[in-house]
Amino acid sequence: MKFDVVFQNGTLVTATETIDADLGISGEKITAIGQNLPKEGAKIINARGKYLLPGGIDAHTHMEFPFMATTSADDFESGTTAAACGGITTIIDFALQKSGETLEQTAKAWRKKADGKVVIDYGLHMIIRDLNDRVLAEMKEMIGQGITSFKLFMTYRKEGLLLDDGAIFRVMEEAAQHHGLIGLHCENNDLIECLMSRYLKEGRKEPKYFARSKPPVVEGEAVHRAIRLAEYSGCPMYVVHMSTEMGAETICEAQHSHLPVYAETCPHYLVFTDDVYNRPDGANFVMSPPIKKREDQEALWKGLAKGEIKTVGSDHCCFTSEQKKLGKEDFTKIPNGVAGTELIIPVLYHFGVSKNRITLNQMVQASSYNPARLFGLYPKKGTLAVGSDADIVVFDPEKEIRLTRENLHSKIDHSIYEAHTVKGYPVMTFSRGKLVQENGKFTGEKGHGKYQVRNPFKESEGKQLLAPALV
Ligand SMILES: [Zn+2]
Repeated sequence: MKFDVVFQNGTLVTATETIDADLGISGEKITAIGQNLPKEGAKIINARGKYLLPGGIDAHTHMEFPFMATTSADDFESGTTAAACGGITTIIDFALQKSGETLEQTAKAWRKKADGKVVIDYGLHMIIRDLNDRVLAEMKEMIGQGITSFKLFMTYRKEGLLLDDGAIFRVMEEAAQHHGLIGLHCENNDLIECLMSRYLKEGRKEPKYFARSKPPVVEGEAVHRAIRLAEYSGCPMYVVHMSTEMGAETICEAQHSHLPVYAETCPHYLVFTDDVYNRPDGANFVMSPPIKKREDQEALWKGLAKGEIKTVGSDHCCFTSEQKKLGKEDFTKIPNGVAGTELIIPVLYHFGVSKNRITLNQMVQASSYNPARLFGLYPKKGTLAVGSDADIVVFDPEKEIRLTRENLHSKIDHSIYEAHTVKGYPVMTFSRGKLVQENGKFTGEKGHGKYQVRNPFKESEGKQLLAPALV
């Protein structure tokens, strides 16, 4: 057998295994894993002292996302370039239905924005914001086209994104019939609006009052309500960007009742605590939900270790300092969102694996295997196996890098991680056999990424998700 590339002397890490072996790729696929693979004519990569990981899957990005009187700063090219440089080989981005638009129109519009620009593979979730009978009927068709997950907002009423509980219930019923998975942004809108207007009336307009308008109960209550609606409609659901201990406890309870309820958290909740909102650059940390307390952060790590929180997605939705200034006089006008797609794997390794909070295999579960299972990409993606796409990360556990703006690849002018130096970093990223990143330098090309038709969600897939105890 002949290979295009052979990785030698590396340690292969999957969701369940850690083995020393060679790995061979031919064209876009992994074609052999074994000892002493023939090297004739192949490019040899000596991976001694390095880990080979399946490419990361960031199931939560917002590239070129029109939001809060502006548009997120990274387009599909710069955003996926950043992702590739952090070891991500697939993103799943959120297509946003415009008011009055059919889902078909939305899907087309998003494909048009992304195709030709993406440097790594991508899929789409669909945000439903304007529900009517026609849109409901289209859901089945969307699932057939590979858009198998839908996201609904329980907040952002003023931005025109909120669906009321009745609408959420109708979408869930429809999804339950056609193997769709419903993602929810869980925050109690009424409570947020009440607290925000109270602070504004008192003249408290700084970023820290943004965070105070969204205390943990805002998320905890909404997660609970969403689970009850999902249970009643028989629908599997996924809590996006969970930030609280209260949310994690509620998820855990639902899982113990054998409900198909899954949760994601984000890198920023795993690194920072809410004192960042007192900093002069507090606006740069404004995202929804906001960052909470130390005990919440610890609960999220524990949730990952126990397998109750299944994935880490970035919620990459970044804005420049200039855009953040839209809210200089009023925290309710700060565009919500931060960068992070480049840092999922480095954060999980440095703050998780190195600190014995999670294992190396759990890192792969949260950043690749579980999102592949939940979002219908497995086994094409999400593992290192013969026949899978050659989406491979060479990870150097010794490489140290400070997470300054200069060392990162997003278009924005700042890095909220500026003060942090991490040890352990992806030094090579292969997307379907093509080297797209080497030593922090992007080596791929615009348009290399392909749209992924994802498979419908099946509960059997959910049962394949692993929840091993921390060893
Ligand atoms: Zn988001």
